[in-house]
Amino acid sequence: MNGLMMQQPLLISSLIVHAERHHGDQEVVSRRVEGDIHRCTYRELAARSRRMANALAALGVKPGERVATLAWNGHRHMELYYAVSGSGAVLHTLNPRLHPDQVVYIADHAEDQVLFFDLTFLPLVEAVASRLKTVKRFVAMTDRAHLPTSSKLPDLLCYEDLCAAQTNRFDWPEFDENSASSLCYTSGTTGNPKGVLYSHRSTLLHTLAAAMPDALNCSAADTVLPVVPMFHVNAWGLPYIACMVGAKLVFPGPGLDGKSLYELFESERVTLSAGVPTVWQGLLGYVEANGLKFSTMRRSVIGGSACPPAMIKLFNESYDVHVLHAWGMTEMSPIGTVASFKGKHGAQSQQERYAVMAKQGRAIYGVDMRIVGEDGADLPWDGKASGEMLVRGPWIVASYFKGEGGDPLVVKGEKGWFPTGDVAMIDADGYMQITDRSKDVIKSGGEWIGSIDIENIAMAHPKVAMAACIAAFHPKWDERPLLVVVKKPGVELTRDELLAFFEGKIAKWWTPDDVVFAEAIPLGATGKMLKNRLREQFKDHKLPTA
Ligand code: AMP
Repeated sequence: MNGLMMQQPLLISSLIVHAERHHGDQEVVSRRVEGDIHRCTYRELAARSRRMANALAALGVKPGERVATLAWNGHRHMELYYAVSGSGAVLHTLNPRLHPDQVVYIADHAEDQVLFFDLTFLPLVEAVASRLKTVKRFVAMTDRAHLPTSSKLPDLLCYEDLCAAQTNRFDWPEFDENSASSLCYTSGTTGNPKGVLYSHRSTLLHTLAAAMPDALNCSAADTVLPVVPMFHVNAWGLPYIACMVGAKLVFPGPGLDGKSLYELFESERVTLSAGVPTVWQGLLGYVEANGLKFSTMRRSVIGGSACPPAMIKLFNESYDVHVLHAWGMTEMSPIGTVASFKGKHGAQSQQERYAVMAKQGRAIYGVDMRIVGEDGADLPWDGKASGEMLVRGPWIVASYFKGEGGDPLVVKGEKGWFPTGDVAMIDADGYMQITDRSKDVIKSGGEWIGSIDIENIAMAHPKVAMAACIAAFHPKWDERPLLVVVKKPGVELTRDELLAFFEGKIAKWWTPDDVVFAEAIPLGATGKMLKNRLREQFKDHKLPTA
């Protein structure tokens, strides 16, 4: 027997409709590339999203087609979040920090039709435009007064002109909730970046769960400033969550340094923020150096990399800011776990509470997790056994875009669980703590660096016999690449000579921080480099600081 309830598809457009109707005068504040602070309400933002939905139709964008952005966090980017997905097309948020070759690869792979970009990224867009196979139109996200007059881009369009030319009457279409809504690429552990294609349903379910009190704990009383970029897994869902709960939103644009962020936190009375540890380090450095305090900020969500326990303590004791340590990944929309307390922690000592906060947290409803050993058998939740973490749930990837990389859900012969590549322990209360990573990637300041690309370049050097690139600890960036090299017999090769070889071949910030020369690199039975052994060997390696 079926239930007798309404069949209403879960669509992203319903979030902006809700925000407009129930929180119409709530503000969205943006620091813009043009240098000003822009203020609008959800009512105005919703109307402009509808205008942009009409503009997309006028540009010939069809349902299912990909529309790319290269943009900071700002109101125009948010308008596109709703205009593109709400009208049935797919929003593809490109990461501007990638090397231009990777931007070209990803945009071609996604078959992006239109590319919207902030003026900051004009040089990047100009550099890649002629190589983009599918992009038909380029739109600068600015007004006519700031539109570059001598751009090399063919028929460059102006965002504000497109918006002004349309009416704000647009009926958000109703379609299957399983339709694709947005696309993010994640750096593969092997091979090319892979596309994670979210659906309206997965996004809405993630939004509901992520807003909950034991997750990001977001409400209409909050002023939320997402420092995490909108090109990193949809700013961890905050542009959707804020609409669902009616929170005020503050977008920092390109101003991610401590001073710019602090000023915005104070002037807009921000209560909740979210970002990677590196960003908080910059902010805390500025606040400490200037003897400042946060007048309204009380919660900061920290994830993307492990949050150092010292940061949790400093936030709490010196600034009365509660850190919500969270873990997730692009493939998980992204939130999987949050280290929020249970009732029993109220009676514990501060030291015990800090120990809970330093863990990556417990699963939010909707995410099921396990840890398994080498043989695929489940390991106990005793806070001691550590193994690869597998997850499943309605906002977790089932397959990569265009089926790349085979079926990601077959793990050691069993189907249906996604292998995270993170190695973790889970305690009896369900709190997970990451101990290692089985995937060979490096995460520097919240951004991935592909070890394989670095190794391939090193191996192309005529004096290198074998090279392995691993993550080494760095006090600012959390991890930086360290290159372990075996030289060819009888040759002379210096660190600087090898590092100079990387120039122009990869993004500058991907260049390894250091090189160590070794006699051999440990290999497994199948000839694969045993990077976990190398990581262990070089765990105390001191990288040169610039
Ligand atoms: P991304 O897909 O870029 O969001 O990266 C996801 C990966 O970042 C995870 O699989 C982890 O390796 C790492 N990560 C995310 N959050 C944390 C955290 N709180 N602690 C440690 N590692 C994290």
